[in-house]
Amino acid sequence: MKNLSSKYQPWIEARKKYHLSHAHIQMARELGLNPKEFGKLANHRQEPWKLPLPEFIAELYRKRFHKDRPDDVRPFEQIVADKKRQKQERKQARAECDPPIRVAAGDLPPPPAPRLASAPVPALETDPARVRVLAEQKEDENWRFRAFLKGAKPWLQGLDDTVLRHADEVSRQIDCCACGNCCREAEPVLSDADAGRLADHLGVPWDQFVGQYLQPSENGDGYVFGPGPCPFLCDNRCSVYAARPDDCRSFPHLHKGEFLARLMQALRNATICPIVYNVLERLKAELWESDTADMDVPF
Ligand code: SF4
Ligand code: SF4
Repeated sequence: MKNLSSKYQPWIEARKKYHLSHAHIQMARELGLNPKEFGKLANHRQEPWKLPLPEFIAELYRKRFHKDRPDDVRPFEQIVADKKRQKQERKQARAECDPPIRVAAGDLPPPPAPRLASAPVPALETDPARVRVLAEQKEDENWRFRAFLKGAKPWLQGLDDTVLRHADEVSRQIDCCACGNCCREAEPVLSDADAGRLADHLGVPWDQFVGQYLQPSENGDGYVFGPGPCPFLCDNRCSVYAARPDDCRSFPHLHKGEFLARLMQALRNATICPIVYNVLERLKAELWESDTADMDVPF
């Protein structure tokens, strides 16, 4: 997992250096701009036909999203502070629920009414930069939904089938070749077998491949490529597709079943992968009654 503050650092530095507001920074993130390239954009004094950077960002945003600014602007300092607080709260909540509380069947609250027929399908979001920002804004809500699903376990039947149905529908509408965000942002874990297959594919000895491309994973369960985009990503395509690691083959892991046990992974991937983000939104619309959306469910 990448360090939070280092992830946001280039944006924080760009905000100070180019005197941008929090709203401009959020717009730039939703637009998928690279803060390290702002220097090339912020030269309207040398190239007077260019707009000043804040106006350029606002103009691009208006053209792309047909509105003047994001609905909800959150400074990084607040995002980081909120994440720390949420992490602490989740840790505490998990500790309080350990050992699990056993509830007699008769004491269970009534099952939520499914909204299959009436729930409107949420608008599809395909832009990975926008998906990241939206998923971060919905982090609290997503954790409440996770708690709801965990609490609903006794009567939730066929959740895996529902997830699969939405995953199929959403995947058909999203072009992974135009996205490629998992290869830039997710960190697949490789086994020895994965490394061997890739080394054979590239025609290099195993140890040379490992030395050149891999480093041990943080928790020692295999190898990772290291920070940044995958070295085999080329024009948004995998250049070793036939030999790609198993973790890449199964991403975004929605077809694996046991979705309840993978909820934390799904919440994490919702910030990276438009497929996961949209599936989560559709699950919330279908399964989560609006009047239960705000209820406080134990983790
Ligand atoms: S090996 Fe291929 S599929 Fe896996 S992260 Fe790299 S580019 Fe993407
Ligand atoms: S699996 Fe998700 S993140 Fe990866 S390319 Fe497809 S939509 Fe993008």
